[in-house]
Amino acid sequence: MTSSSIDILIIGAGPTGLMLACQLSLYPNITFRIIDKNSSRTVNSRALAVHARSIELFAQLNLAEKALAQGKFIDKMSVFIRGKHRCSLDLTLIRTEQQSLFTHYPYILFLEQSVTEQLLETFLNEHNIKVERQTEAIDFIDIDSKNDNDVQVILSTGETIQTKYICACDGARSIVRHKLNLPFHGRTYSESLFVADCQVDNAPLGTDQAGVFLASSGLSGLLPMTNNRYRLFGTIHEQNETDETISIDEAAHLLKQRSEHFNMNVHDCSWISVYRSHHRHITKFRYRNRYFLLGDAAHIHSPVGGQGMNTGLQDSHNLAWKLAYVLTYSARDCLLDTYHDERSAIAKTLVNTTDRAFAFLSSTYWTTRFVRLFIAPILFQFIVQPLFIYLRKFRQAVFLGLSQLGITYRSLNVYDYGASAGNFHQNTPQPGDRFPYVIFDPCHYHFVIFERQQLIKVNQFVEFIKKEYSKMIKIHDSYEEKIPLKLEGAILIRPDGYIAYRTNVFDIRHFQCYFHQFFPTEIM
Ligand SMILES: Cc1cc2nc3c(=O)[nH]c(=O)nc-3n(C[C@H](O)[C@H](O)[C@H](O)COP(=O)(O)OP(=O)(O)OC[C@H]3O[C@@H](n4cnc5c(N)ncnc54)[C@H](O)[C@@H]3O)c2cc1C
Repeated sequence: MTSSSIDILIIGAGPTGLMLACQLSLYPNITFRIIDKNSSRTVNSRALAVHARSIELFAQLNLAEKALAQGKFIDKMSVFIRGKHRCSLDLTLIRTEQQSLFTHYPYILFLEQSVTEQLLETFLNEHNIKVERQTEAIDFIDIDSKNDNDVQVILSTGETIQTKYICACDGARSIVRHKLNLPFHGRTYSESLFVADCQVDNAPLGTDQAGVFLASSGLSGLLPMTNNRYRLFGTIHEQNETDETISIDEAAHLLKQRSEHFNMNVHDCSWISVYRSHHRHITKFRYRNRYFLLGDAAHIHSPVGGQGMNTGLQDSHNLAWKLAYVLTYSARDCLLDTYHDERSAIAKTLVNTTDRAFAFLSSTYWTTRFVRLFIAPILFQFIVQPLFIYLRKFRQAVFLGLSQLGITYRSLNVYDYGASAGNFHQNTPQPGDRFPYVIFDPCHYHFVIFERQQLIKVNQFVEFIKKEYSKMIKIHDSYEEKIPLKLEGAILIRPDGYIAYRTNVFDIRHFQCYFHQFFPTEIM
């Protein structure tokens, strides 16, 4: 049984695959399908943290308000070491700095992954796209072939799909990664982790507060959830690891042991799970031109900072418009290579940073344990907390890192060459930076003009864009009041909100040279 050919097959309908499908559904001329081997979405809470940059992606799909209404904001993160409170980071300070952080969403939102997936799938259904469930990709014909033909995928239903591109969003055990024989560099931690959603009486935390308890026996923590529940989590070291399972009583015991003085009562557990954490990534995110790997299929991290799902959502956001522009506007194939360039660099850095943080928090080496239990309390209490309270720059740097708002691609070659025309003040956002604050529609490039002096040149430039690229570039010249930033000239923003190009000399030929790298039009 062979189906007609399509443009894109998305394998996996976790958060990464669903976000990719939502983004692609905005382009009516693209044919794609999304399949998943499971019969339903996850019902478990799994990833809780949804960071500000992910909420911005939801906002582009008009889903932000729904997400905010169903989640919980975290007001405070506290650290307890050997039973003593050592530090609290007051995140409400960040909320009052919305303007200088250049986002509408200066929060950490806790939203259960089951709800995140439900929001995305409902969006898809409203766009008449259904996830094809109980449909597993089991093999790929000619996967080793060097030719550039469409790929044929064999499904568990007996159907063979012919597709131009495969997007592997099939999670940590990706079949695509295995079939392509791609090494997954990194390692698996010796410690296991448990998670349990439950009620906790006498917690030394408010209901909007997250807490971590460090002790000589390991790490435990509580994260607030809706309906007065908590996510209880912790490490299980090899010596008391029992067949990768744990009872709620054992989890409660570990919490009590690690929090020392607090007499917490854990009950009404609705979900408990034990898993091994890894830090691994592949080196190529695009393979044989036709295969793309995204989300957990391409990188898996320790749970520190709740970055896993958020990074997958952004992989999808980065790739969706590039595929759409190649298929819809005949963009050059090299635009797709920038997916690998941009996202693999981010994943590698993230895997390494979260690994260092997790190793520090969980290592059983005596030196690390000594630093964690005897030096860290002093650092947290006398350095980290005061810096967070009194030094706005420090506070904002922490938030920009955690929220993924601070991600920039500016160090990549594509932004070195020709993406900036004119001399700019050093604080002006650069090509490769996320354009702050304003959320534009995700199907167009946006040319935003701030210049009021060189009217003739600006008008000529605008006329040129209208003539050559009216379908893909929207022009805006009234954004000054909405952006609390001093900007000069004009900025071209990509569909994913990153700056592609800036100019304050309005040299059409310079712009053509830049744009011609990705879009084949004649140079005058
Ligand atoms: C307990 C726990 C807590 C976590 N907490 C956080 C957190 O706070 N913040 C955060 O950002 N991340 C967190 N994570 C990580 C987060 O859950 C993952 O990063 C995220 O689910 C990855 O999404 P994904 O779509 O890439 O992969 P997955 O969610 O694994 O989805 C992959 C999908 O592909 C399908 N599939 C697999 N193979 C095939 C095939 N051959 N054919 C068809 N379908 C297939 C699967 O059925 C699945 O639905 C947590 C994870 C766990 C386990």
